[in-house]
Amino acid sequence: MSSTDGRIPLFEREGFIICFEAQDEMTSLREHFKRAGHEKKSIDAMMRKVGSGKAVWFQCLVTAWRDGKQLAEESLGCCYYNSFEEFYKTEGDYFDDMVRQVILDAKKNSPWGCASCCQMFPDGMPDTCPNKANGCDELLASGR
Ligand SMILES: [Zn+2]
Repeated sequence: MSSTDGRIPLFEREGFIICFEAQDEMTSLREHFKRAGHEKKSIDAMMRKVGSGKAVWFQCLVTAWRDGKQLAEESLGCCYYNSFEEFYKTEGDYFDDMVRQVILDAKKNSPWGCASCCQMFPDGMPDTCPNKANGCDELLASGR
């Protein structure tokens, strides 16, 4: 098994490695699109495309990593695309929002970031955050 364990490292942003992973979607494609009001004919066509590998049906997991540690994750179910690449290469689509969110969360969860103002300290966390205006001092003192 590879070290990324099914994850595809896509790019680095703000010091975090952003990874994409496709997981099995437990909801059936037919059920999902039936509920969404699609016609049987178009659902059948989608099923055929997935069956022949011309489309993918999956649950997507986007994660943010640093120094081999996963710091945040976002998942999105019921993804239907022509390919996984289409999902994470289409600009302005769900993927962009997910990346923004994992970076935000990763900063909060990072031992090198201030949990309050999200400033990063790659060289080590100072005793007090320099951004006193945000009340960061108190947070750090209380163990955050
Ligand atoms: Zn701060």
